[in-house]
Amino acid sequence: MTQASLPEIGGVLRAQQSFAVLSHVRPDGDALGSQLALALSLRQLGKDVTVWNEDGLLEKYSFLPGGERLTQPPREAQDFDVAIALDTATQSRLGTAGESVRQAKTWINIDHHPSNPGYGDLVYLDPTSPATGQILFELIKDQQFPMDLAIAENLFVAISTDTGSFQYSNTTARTFEIGAELLRCGVDVGRVSQLLYESYPRRRTDLLKALLGTMRFDAGGKIASFSLSLEVARELEVKPEDNEGLIDHLRAIQGVIVAVFFEELIDGKVRVSMRSKSEKVELSASCQKFGGGGHKLAAGTRVRGTLAEAEQKILKAICDVIDCNS
Ligand code: AMP
Ligand code: MN
Ligand code: MN
Repeated sequence: MTQASLPEIGGVLRAQQSFAVLSHVRPDGDALGSQLALALSLRQLGKDVTVWNEDGLLEKYSFLPGGERLTQPPREAQDFDVAIALDTATQSRLGTAGESVRQAKTWINIDHHPSNPGYGDLVYLDPTSPATGQILFELIKDQQFPMDLAIAENLFVAISTDTGSFQYSNTTARTFEIGAELLRCGVDVGRVSQLLYESYPRRRTDLLKALLGTMRFDAGGKIASFSLSLEVARELEVKPEDNEGLIDHLRAIQGVIVAVFFEELIDGKVRVSMRSKSEKVELSASCQKFGGGGHKLAAGTRVRGTLAEAEQKILKAICDVIDCNS
């Protein structure tokens, strides 16, 4: 795999006409904000742009400018000049959005996950970047692609959500510089932050209440975890996006090094989400062992089995990593 340069990627974007802009299933703010920012910039360049995500535009992100362009992919696959995967560590995590691209002359892969193997024809990976949105900002600036308030707002959401509102250790001086530039483009930080962090539906807090009832501590309080069963999810009518960020309540506890969230899925698997507060306790490798991936301090996977089986297996693996490293 050879890494492409920003001018090489820019050259292909300029030369081709039809684009599918995609990102991972169960999208977060970085996935959706990145998709819409790039799509809007390409539209202004006069390109034909399709924006698909398996889960569509989540209700929580319905305020994103250009959001109406982001749809669930059709069953019937289509041809494109270029398919672009954003913020997606493995091609399979594009889900049905990836399957709906029948043929693309060129696949571009732009991402910041260290576990990304570099699939595609043109690959731009920067694991030092806290968000794919930050890489896209650099691409747009470097290539002098169109930038306006709508694009800036999408990039701001991408960067703000993946840095925990500019507070995680992945946040760099450059991230703040970019934040400042986006504000100069007109982004209203108070308004956007309120939409992102102070506009949750009440059922999300009902969910938190239920999750805290299942909270357990292992490794002498260094691991905190909670679990969501299908039964509770149905009872509370939980939507997939409701649990984004709830794991932060576990990592906020003094003495906790690793926070884990287990979610029972309808396909007989359990979704596992992990966060570490210590550079010495890296999670990406542990998750890769279980078929997942992610970053050093934020990773995830899906494992087959019941909630109890997943808890047993995963918590044991994290205990081993903690014992060895802290
Ligand atoms: P999450 O806990 O879902 O926010 O995910 C944390 C990080 O781990 C994200 O950057 C994801 O891209 C990555 N991740 C989560 N689940 C998986 C998975 N099943 N396979 C690969 N990477 C994953
Ligand atoms: Mn993401
Ligand atoms: Mn990301």
